[in-house]
Amino acid sequence: MRAFTYERAHDPVAAARAAAQPGAKFIAGGTNLLDLMKIEVETPTHLVDVQDLGFDKIENTKDGGLRIGALVTNTDLATDGRVRRDYAVLTRAIVAGASGQLRNKASTAGNLLQRTRCPYFYDINMPCNKRKPGSGCAAIGGVSRQLGVIGVSDKCIATFPGDMAVAMRVLDAAVETVDATGQHHSIPIAEFHRLWGDHPEQDTVLKPGELITAVTLPRPLGGKHFYEKVRDRASYAYALVSVAAVIQPDGTGRVAFGGVAPRPWRVEAADALLPQGAAAVTARAFQGATPTQDNKFKLPLATRALASVIAESQQKIGA
Ligand SMILES: Cc1cc2nc3c(=O)[nH]c(=O)nc-3n(C[C@H](O)[C@H](O)[C@H](O)COP(=O)(O)OP(=O)(O)OC[C@H]3O[C@@H](n4cnc5c(N)ncnc54)[C@H](O)[C@@H]3O)c2cc1C
Ligand code: SF4
Repeated sequence: MRAFTYERAHDPVAAARAAAQPGAKFIAGGTNLLDLMKIEVETPTHLVDVQDLGFDKIENTKDGGLRIGALVTNTDLATDGRVRRDYAVLTRAIVAGASGQLRNKASTAGNLLQRTRCPYFYDINMPCNKRKPGSGCAAIGGVSRQLGVIGVSDKCIATFPGDMAVAMRVLDAAVETVDATGQHHSIPIAEFHRLWGDHPEQDTVLKPGELITAVTLPRPLGGKHFYEKVRDRASYAYALVSVAAVIQPDGTGRVAFGGVAPRPWRVEAADALLPQGAAAVTARAFQGATPTQDNKFKLPLATRALASVIAESQQKIGA
């Protein structure tokens, strides 16, 4: 690990200003950043610790939704009574991720900003445009079983690996931030993670130093909530494909996929096809997909995972 300096921030705008300096980064739970620093994939020269900023509450909003502080841990979010009752897709997605110990430490903001799990990103001896812009992409033509099938580019085919954000996409969450000039912003989760295009080194639309303060959820959607995660091991593994869904008694609803793209993958026009069944939804949601030989299995897997969710919803609604 390279040497770095460290400060504990006590004011959000001062923290944003400090983190906007070249080489500086925020740290929250540290469960992703410290791992990356140990293998020198990330080499910040200064860390701004945000854990004393007080963003650790879940509050009701005036319009009947919830405001989740950026530092609320994954465990506290998943077990909150309001979340379990009204946003169960979020609880299900969070508990499908990582391990109990990690979820006790991982923050809401850090989870949204966790970096890809492409194996070449973690190997500093291999070319990787995301780690070192312009160096090439070892995954294209390499081992790509875990990687993306849609929304990828000829510079990078990695996925966003997280679970929580897939549920937040179904719920139409918004990410609240403050930047180094003190301006506040609200970014729809649909626009938060970037498609890789020519700049895979930029994971999100955040500007340097922009601090996440909270995530807001609109009013509850009702319906039945599901998170189906297909992975190589029953626990402690990232999704090959995941499906977050909210399904209403009449069979309409919303669906987003994880493990397939640079962002939680939801196509609103595909939601409208839910009453026609899983194949109709995935045919629309994955139109234009560019899988590799190694990962083309993800397309039928996504259809089967969604079919299983729809079948479960029919049983629950019929019950
Ligand atoms: C073994 C292992 C298995 C895992 N399995 C899963 C899994 O199955 N599913 C899953 O979803 N996740 C999984 N994770 C990832 C885990 O959920 C993340 O590491 C965690 O959520 C990151 O949160 P953190 O608070 O520790 O972030 P940190 O590591 O502190 O930070 C992560 C990034 O966010 C930035 N950041 C932090 N807070 C802010 C803020 N307020 N504003 C702006 N930037 C900020 C940091 O600068 C850094 O770039 C796993 C992790 C490990 C180590
Ligand atoms: S897919 Fe992306 S993260 Fe993986 S090696 Fe290529 S550029 Fe790097």
